[in-house]
Amino acid sequence: MMKAMSTRIERIRCIRTAPAGIRLVAVRIETNQPGLYGLGCATFTQRPLAVVEAVEQYLDPFLRGRDVSEIEDIFRASLMSSYWRNGPVLFNAMSGVDMALWDIKGKCASMPVYDLVGGKCRMSAPVYIHTTGAEIDDVIEAARREMDDGFRHIRMQVEVPGQATYGTESDLHTHQNVDSPTSPQNVFEPNDYARRACALFERARAELGDEVELLHDVHERVPCSLAIQLAKDLEPYRLFFLEDALPPEDIEHFRWLRRHSHIPLAMGELFNNPNEFTPLIKERLIDFIRIHISQIGGFTPALKVAHFCEFFGVRTAWHGPGDLTPIGFAANLALDLACPNFGIQEMSRFNRATEDVFPGCPEVRDGCLWPNGRPGWGVDLDEELAAKFPFPDHPFNGAWPAIRRRDGSVLPP
Ligand SMILES: [Mg+2]
Repeated sequence: MMKAMSTRIERIRCIRTAPAGIRLVAVRIETNQPGLYGLGCATFTQRPLAVVEAVEQYLDPFLRGRDVSEIEDIFRASLMSSYWRNGPVLFNAMSGVDMALWDIKGKCASMPVYDLVGGKCRMSAPVYIHTTGAEIDDVIEAARREMDDGFRHIRMQVEVPGQATYGTESDLHTHQNVDSPTSPQNVFEPNDYARRACALFERARAELGDEVELLHDVHERVPCSLAIQLAKDLEPYRLFFLEDALPPEDIEHFRWLRRHSHIPLAMGELFNNPNEFTPLIKERLIDFIRIHISQIGGFTPALKVAHFCEFFGVRTAWHGPGDLTPIGFAANLALDLACPNFGIQEMSRFNRATEDVFPGCPEVRDGCLWPNGRPGWGVDLDEELAAKFPFPDHPFNGAWPAIRRRDGSVLPP
């Protein structure tokens, strides 16, 4: 029997855009079939130009002519082609390709990607939304507004006066404060922060009631002993989860944290290497896996992680920050819908410009993310409009300035 002409990769290129001021990188795969292309998310917003080079100088020539249907083989061959594997630049580049190939497969099958991998086991994905403020009252007020807007899961972060506190306006200012990275504005003291975080949740639980789910991100900024103390101190306020209490370099300490506290733990937006997260999952040391799926190579490896987690009672909470294209959100959502061990989806609202640049953005409604049911990811990219939102000027091309203790030592951002 004659084999039908296969669909092949003709060209792989990147599209850069910043409709919300955040540097986003999307990958577009052109095929030999007229009008058939795929889109993927390759956003590593602190090193976007390095990812563009990895895609266009290495993966494009390596993969031209390949059959688009062979997603697993293309992932494996790309991984091995650099010999030195893992790492955010190469994995984000591979993610752009991987997601674009799933987009093409969905379009060829006239199915959303979640249908290709088993179909929906829920109609929509409940999300959590961020709240922040300079004062505890401000954060509680912001949470009330989000609850009125239908959100049932709220992340809360409060500023430590005079310090660069993660997840607050003060932290955003440090990003602009690149001329004097040792200025007091970029200082953070872990003990001050831990006391303030406990005060926030004591008030929040008392004033917002028992029904709302509260979440908090430590952003790995405290020493291990303080992380354990903080987890214990927050227990009375029944958090949905405590995120990134420890850095990935200290995963051994999760055994101690688990032994001393029953607070639900979420971990993992920084993970790249499977050796970082597999021990935490198989030893049941965390409750939620928080991987940023383009950081581990895309949808293909993330689907495997989700299934692996299912057998160990670990739920998914894929990283959903502002530095993710709506294509990446659609990939998160496909996993949320198709995986029984879904836990929660982090959500950053799209601004109007982002919705215009990426027609078909998943919709946020009633505290949930909803799919649009279109084939592939269901999200397109208006390149002409994208070009109207170039990367903003920044002396470090968007890299994080250093956050320091008062003694000058550098902390995780
Ligand atoms: Mg986080």
